[in-house]
Amino acid sequence: MPSRLATITTVLFDLDGTLTVPVIDFDALRRTLGTPPGVPLTQALADWPELERERGYAVIRDAEMHAARIAKANRGAVELVRWLHEHDFATAIITRNFRDAVDVTLEALGLEFDVVLTRDCAPPKPAPDAVLEALRRLDRPTSSALMVGDYRDDVEAGRAAGTLTCLVTNGESPRFDADLTVPWLEDLHALFERSRK
Ligand SMILES: [Mg+2]
Repeated sequence: MPSRLATITTVLFDLDGTLTVPVIDFDALRRTLGTPPGVPLTQALADWPELERERGYAVIRDAEMHAARIAKANRGAVELVRWLHEHDFATAIITRNFRDAVDVTLEALGLEFDVVLTRDCAPPKPAPDAVLEALRRLDRPTSSALMVGDYRDDVEAGRAAGTLTCLVTNGESPRFDADLTVPWLEDLHALFERSRK
């Protein structure tokens, strides 16, 4: 659906598994912490007593820092983000990760974004708040924006905020619907280039 991209001038990205090759095994992390499968870690930990919750966050932070140190750009990610900046798009990252891990990851990738929202911007995806906050800081309307992610929460957050949505499947078959579905960011890049011709 390249024509729908013709009006897009703002691109909001999830980080893990979207801009980076997925590294964190969230199911293993849930087993380590003993939280229920399928429930976001932050949501599961919210009900824990304070002391245990702090210990739980320390385990997550360690996993995120490890992932950040070995972070690799996902297929087509660097080329797409550079192309967006060359063409005056506004860009943002919206992630549930800790800020420190995000900074280390972005340095490893050699990429910069106009706005970076991390775990501190509560409530997290799939709530639309972080998407709306990114657009507020970028001073761009919802109608200009595409939210790109590899997980249901990314698509739902974008949808709830009223943006166009793009699911990156990392070469797998899609498990849920988005406005656009691509195997890799290089495919989204090709659609963007075509929309500008
Ligand atoms: Mg992700």
